[in-house]
Amino acid sequence: MDNCLFCKIAAGDIPSKKAYEDDLCLAFYDIAPQAPVHFLVIPKAHIGSVAEVDDDNSAVVAHIFAVIAKLTKEMGLASYRVVSNIGEQAGQSVPHLHFHVLSGRDMTWPPG
Ligand code: 5GP
Ligand code: ZN
Repeated sequence: MDNCLFCKIAAGDIPSKKAYEDDLCLAFYDIAPQAPVHFLVIPKAHIGSVAEVDDDNSAVVAHIFAVIAKLTKEMGLASYRVVSNIGEQAGQSVPHLHFHVLSGRDMTWPPG
């Protein structure tokens, strides 16, 4: 999608520190980490947020969760949090579906 920051990162037009990549998704470290480990996993094809997931595009979401399980195991992360913000009030600042993976510190519940 034109003018989408994460589409540009997925295409390699904007550089990122990659943690994992395959045909369907990309994992890269957040530019403003909120925990000692903080990376994002995105589908390469543009989806605006969880609110745009449907039966036609949801396979990539299952794939992303399998990638998160594999990557976190490889990184030796026993405990971590997966977050996706949907809409402005929930804190979504980039309108391309992404899952935050945060680890390496104590976390509070509920999130602010
Ligand atoms: P959201 O606020 O939409 O839930 O998450 C967007 C995340 O993308 C934020 O945590 C922000 O720090 C990160 N981010 C924004 N621009 C860039 C960028 O150019 N590169 C990287 N690696 N992360 C970014
Ligand atoms: Zn996009």
